[in-house]
Amino acid sequence: MDFNLSKAHLDLQAKAKAFTEEVLFPHELECEQNDGISTTTHQHITQAVLDWGFNAPNHSKEDGGQGFSIFEQTLLNEQLGMATGAIWDALWYPSYPMRFASPEQKAEYLIPTCQGKRRDAYAITEADAGSDPSQCVTRADKVAGGWRINGEKWFVTIGDIADYILVHAHVDGDREKSAVFFVDKNLPGVEVKRTPLYTHHFAFKHPEFTFTDVIVGEDKMLGAVGDGYKMTKDWFVEARLGIAARCVGAAIRATDEANRFAAERMQFGQKIRDFQAIEFMLADMAVEIMAAKTMLYRLSWEIDQTSDRIRKHARAAALKLYCSEMVGRVCDRAVQILGGRGYMREQPVERLWRDTRVDRIWEGTSEIQRVIIAGQIKKRGLDMYTGW
Ligand SMILES: Cc1cc2nc3c(=O)[nH]c(=O)nc-3n(C[C@H](O)[C@H](O)[C@H](O)COP(=O)(O)OP(=O)(O)OC[C@H]3O[C@@H](n4cnc5c(N)ncnc54)[C@H](O)[C@@H]3O)c2cc1C
Repeated sequence: MDFNLSKAHLDLQAKAKAFTEEVLFPHELECEQNDGISTTTHQHITQAVLDWGFNAPNHSKEDGGQGFSIFEQTLLNEQLGMATGAIWDALWYPSYPMRFASPEQKAEYLIPTCQGKRRDAYAITEADAGSDPSQCVTRADKVAGGWRINGEKWFVTIGDIADYILVHAHVDGDREKSAVFFVDKNLPGVEVKRTPLYTHHFAFKHPEFTFTDVIVGEDKMLGAVGDGYKMTKDWFVEARLGIAARCVGAAIRATDEANRFAAERMQFGQKIRDFQAIEFMLADMAVEIMAAKTMLYRLSWEIDQTSDRIRKHARAAALKLYCSEMVGRVCDRAVQILGGRGYMREQPVERLWRDTRVDRIWEGTSEIQRVIIAGQIKKRGLDMYTGW
């Protein structure tokens, strides 16, 4: 058994690190101070993404993406996660379910999105449908030549810069008939209701949208009636792995910053790293990252080898849970090691600590990951998690 990364993987890792440090890091403070990045900065990063060959890593070359395996995406995402303010979101991953689009839908939406000419957002969550999306009340009703959509969506990430939204709705208001629709943002009846402020200073916004008698053509349904949840579930695997990888990257950067600070900061006539209290925190941080990273690499590799959707979904839940909780513990200690400086927004550790809080909430809260894991243990036995 050989756990070493291949030369190609090491090269990708080094390139992703250089991209993050050279292209993303210079804009972190702009994002922090302005609660987002300017259009000029966004255009600059978009061009850099294309120049570096990192656009749409998750879609096939045929569709205009990079055709990265899950393992390759993990190597890239780990490095991206070191950037604060979610500037990594300027590197676009067109929503996974679009690979099931028709050739015409690919030509109109997926291919230009992979090429950086269009941008999608994905809207499932509603006021009363969060962890339980079956409570969605956004509905689609058949009308002559198409569909009429009515409803409201919350937390639509990058809804400010996207030009179309993949809207999860129930046909005839029936939760057994879930479906996903391409909805262009400039259609009559699509409105931004409000754009709340959040804990993090994210490169882009998460507005709430209302859809009032929005008419879309018959050809705007992605997949078939009843496919909505299936497509969303597949997407969760990719999204949860992405979060896990970014959490590992964020934890590494926070630990690196804390380690450097501890080696220089003098108090009581000695470097603070020589206080056992500080050394032990660094030791715990390093071990936690090591465990998470081992799990991340192993699972990313495994997911590339298997077509067992249940296993992928079950394992991705465990990985997302562990890595997102790990980064919270690690960043909290990093803030502690920097003392008062750790509480300054100008410090990467403070921003990483704040930014990564959402990783225990979005794409399924920690409680929901535990519900999935516990359910799998009940149905299939502990082996799903321990038998390997
Ligand atoms: C910054 C941000 C960006 C987001 N971006 C998007 C996006 O682009 N598109 C999108 O569709 N959504 C998005 N979301 C929504 C996100 O996925 C939801 O917030 C998340 O799924 C939780 O739903 P909720 O907020 O309604 O919480 P609720 O479901 O109301 O949960 C509240 C609490 O109850 C707990 N809980 C709920 N059910 C159970 C259970 N069965 N067992 C134990 N505990 C339970 C939860 O864990 C949580 O602690 C985003 C959210 C945020 C904060």
